[in-house]
Amino acid sequence: MTYQNYSLKQLQQIDAAHHLHPFTDHKELRAAGSRIITHANGAFIYDSEGTEILDGMAGLWCVNIGYGRDELAEAAYAQMKELPYYNSFFKTSTPTPVLLSKKLAEIAPKHINQVFYGSSGSEANDTALRLVRHYWVLEGKPEKNRIISRKMAYHGSTVAGTSLGGMDAMHKQLGGAVPNIVHVMMPYAYELALPGESDHDFGLRAAKAVEDAILEAGADKVAAFIGEPVMGAGGVKIPPMSYWPEVQRICRKYDVLLMLDEVITGYGRTGEWFAAQTFGIEPDTITTAKALTSGYQPLSALLVGDRITSTLVEKGGEFNHGYTYSGHPVACAVALKNLEIIEREGMVDRVRNDTGPYFAKALQERIAGHDLVGEVRSIGLMGAIEIVKDKATKERFLPSGSAAVTVRDHAIANGMMLRATGDTMILSPPLMWTRDTIDMACERIGKALDLAQADLRKR
Ligand SMILES: *Cc1c(COP(=O)(O)O)cnc(C)c1O
Repeated sequence: MTYQNYSLKQLQQIDAAHHLHPFTDHKELRAAGSRIITHANGAFIYDSEGTEILDGMAGLWCVNIGYGRDELAEAAYAQMKELPYYNSFFKTSTPTPVLLSKKLAEIAPKHINQVFYGSSGSEANDTALRLVRHYWVLEGKPEKNRIISRKMAYHGSTVAGTSLGGMDAMHKQLGGAVPNIVHVMMPYAYELALPGESDHDFGLRAAKAVEDAILEAGADKVAAFIGEPVMGAGGVKIPPMSYWPEVQRICRKYDVLLMLDEVITGYGRTGEWFAAQTFGIEPDTITTAKALTSGYQPLSALLVGDRITSTLVEKGGEFNHGYTYSGHPVACAVALKNLEIIEREGMVDRVRNDTGPYFAKALQERIAGHDLVGEVRSIGLMGAIEIVKDKATKERFLPSGSAAVTVRDHAIANGMMLRATGDTMILSPPLMWTRDTIDMACERIGKALDLAQADLRKR
């Protein structure tokens, strides 16, 4: 690789001079320089200094089978030699998206049998929004086009993704969202439950916010509700088990479609293939991306339920939407191999029966008791640690978010990659982690919390 002819300093200078990064303050980046990751293997990433870091985020929620899998490289190589690209427009297809669609229909909830491909989660949510609105037009109800989402939701960063999402900072820079999308409260008990309110009751109350928004608009004006089963970028917010079944009941009552954004939770993270199965619900669309290829290729799949596809097929007419790379043969070949490995190694069952429960117990027993920690929570291999100044009152450090960044920086310096979002540390390890890897992570996080606490006391 040619980068080996450059020093770290040179790479950082070139990066600062020419490369604009996602979700980055470029003034800050120029001052600090970027961390350059050069290679990775198994559960570890390595930077240009040779530092080994345990990757508690699976890249960005995606590298579920871990790094360095030759089989995926070989699948891509073979497909590139045979047919690197052909489109799926104009009544053509190529073999790998055909076979991947069949596989996805097999593992998806049984009422879901069709797939629309893109290259990213954001694109898949664009497709979902277009498709759901198109559905109601075909059904002769064009005025039924409002989408209900939630505050702090993350649905990607295209204009449609940002509009569907509930991130204020992103909306501020948008200069006009896609019209007719509203945001209701999130099911985040740690901060939003009332004193004495049970988790169960809080879940029902958070679901009621969806019903209120439907009634406010009028059911004949509402197309769909969209949500992440577990809010990811918003801070691994795990809803009470009462929430999703109640949201589904409400959607059915008012004939509102249910759209799940499983870009993070899809393909095993919660201990089932899809979190729809974990929460026992039957959505009309499931957005997936990230772990579909374990991040080895950019690919998204919008899984579409029978209700929508039968209307598409019966009523006919062109759906005027698609991407050059929809059903990309190489990305689909990699996805097929990735799913084969997840299955062959029993990763989904392992998360459900072994590593998921072990991860939950480890966080409870080794992290929750720390002075800086207000709460730990997890589902499958997805977890959060709330950083507080005072455990009892849940008071946070000021300025908001600063303490979590301190913890994160110590964690990385001690060989542990995790993310800080607001005052919450989040974890999304590869599904190939073992109990030993979880032990190692807890030890490093504990150390980072101690060091951060010493820092914060000094301030
Ligand atoms: C990452 C993410 C997206 C966006 O996916 P991109 O591939 O970055 O466009 C959408 N929804 C959720 C829940 C995500 O976590």
